[in-house]
Order: sequence, then structure tokens, then C-alpha cells
Amino acid sequence: MTCENCGNPAADIYKARQRALHLCDRCIDRFDLQSAFEQTLPDLINLEESANWQAAIAAADAFLATYAARDHDHWLLRSVLAQKALILEGAGKLSEALELLRRVSSAGVLDRSDFLVNQLAMAKLLEKMQQPAEAIRVIEIGLDAATGNGVPTSLRLLENYARLASSIGINIPATYVLQVQQALEWWGIGIEVIPTDPSGLARVIFDAAEAERLAGGRFRELHERLRDLGSGPDASSLHRKLLLEYSSKETVGYYKKRALQLLGEPA
Ligand SMILES: [Zn+2]
Repeated sequence: MTCENCGNPAADIYKARQRALHLCDRCIDRFDLQSAFEQTLPDLINLEESANWQAAIAAADAFLATYAARDHDHWLLRSVLAQKALILEGAGKLSEALELLRRVSSAGVLDRSDFLVNQLAMAKLLEKMQQPAEAIRVIEIGLDAATGNGVPTSLRLLENYARLASSIGINIPATYVLQVQQALEWWGIGIEVIPTDPSGLARVIFDAAEAERLAGGRFRELHERLRDLGSGPDASSLHRKLLLEYSSKETVGYYKKRALQLLGEPA
């Protein structure tokens, strides 16, 4: 039996929500950590909302210490640090939050996609701190690293770049045309020619980012409807109908593909 999550030899059967999965030891740890983190999040948020941010930070640290030995791929470390940054931001400790995100960035625990997400979070903090030029610089570093699984996230960075650039009256460089092209191709957003003039380029970025956001919302809605239908013979034909309807209308290629994939799977 191979692990249904990573393909390595499976060690045991893991009961996850409604399904039983064959998993290897590392994936069992990861699934356990994920579910423990999901369970502790509401407590952290409660502490934070009762204006007790120090207690929320202490609880996050204690949680990480408890599970650190099983955090093989640093998933929990990344998640806890990101959560701590949110807690600090909520408490108005913006430079402390920024410092934390900088530490995450240099700790060597981020993959491409997470690196871009982290750069974007830093840029948002810098914008809040009234430092738009510095925010742009941080986004540029993210965009320079936008290859592999960083490509989809790069659309959000480009959007924020274009928005910040226009807010301080500078142009988005024409050299970003390639980045835009790459992001649009990944998302399956069709456009014949990408303009190289700054305002045309910014418009394409805003339109694409909005198209992706709307399509993502439609896809999540579809997912919820499918989930609410449950399973059974009646549900299965309704599943098909909803998926066919969705995939015939969806204009953003990535989500269309996801729906077609679901259509190919037994309900
Ligand atoms: Zn595995």
C-alpha cells in the first residue's frame, strides 16, 4: 500500500473526517498537526479578540513547542508564525509583525509559493505603515522569485504592485509583461496581446486579478453546493448537472479544468 498523500510506503490507516486514508508516518504527523492547529485556532482568535494579544502569542508559542518534534516540513512553524504576525498586526504592533515576517522569510522554511505569500503580507504591512515605496520593493523581490508554484500567487503581487504604483504616481515597468503573461497563462485567462504601456498593462492586471477572484468565488460556491448535496444515486446525477453547467460557463481556465476533473471522478 502506498501513502495516498505523497506516494511513499504507507504505514497505517488514518481516519480523516469521513474518509479512511492509507498514509505514511510523516503524512500522519502532518494531518495530525493540521487538525490540531485547526482546533486551536478559535482559541487563539478568542484570546486576540478579547484584546489579550500577549496571551494569544504565548498560546501560539506553547502550541508550536508541543508539536515541533513532529513538524517535519515546517508547515506548523510557517502557520504559527503567520498567525502570530496576524495577532501582532491586530494589536497594532505593525513593526513587530513585519519583523516576524522578515524572520520567516530568511529562515529558509518557505517554498516558492509561501515565499510570495509572505512578501505580499510584508507589503501590506508596509502599506499600512505608510511606506508604499518600500512595499513595492518587497513585492519586486517576490516577483523576482515567481517561478514554479510561485506563478499563481504572482498575480496578486502584480495587482498590488500596480495599485501601489498608481497611488504614488509611478509606472509599472514594461519588463513585467513577461510576468503578467506567465500568470495569465497559469490561470487560463485569455488575452490576445498584453499591452506594454503602463496604463494598459495595469488595466490587464486589474482585470485578470478581478476575473480570478470572481471565478474563485464561483468555484467555492459550487463546491459548497456539491458538498451539501451529499452522496447517493440522486445526488450523483445532480452533481454531474451542476459540474457540466459550471464548466460550460466558466471563463477562467484553471477553475474550468478543476470542474472537469471533478466530473471525471466518481461522486
Ligand atoms: Zn505520505
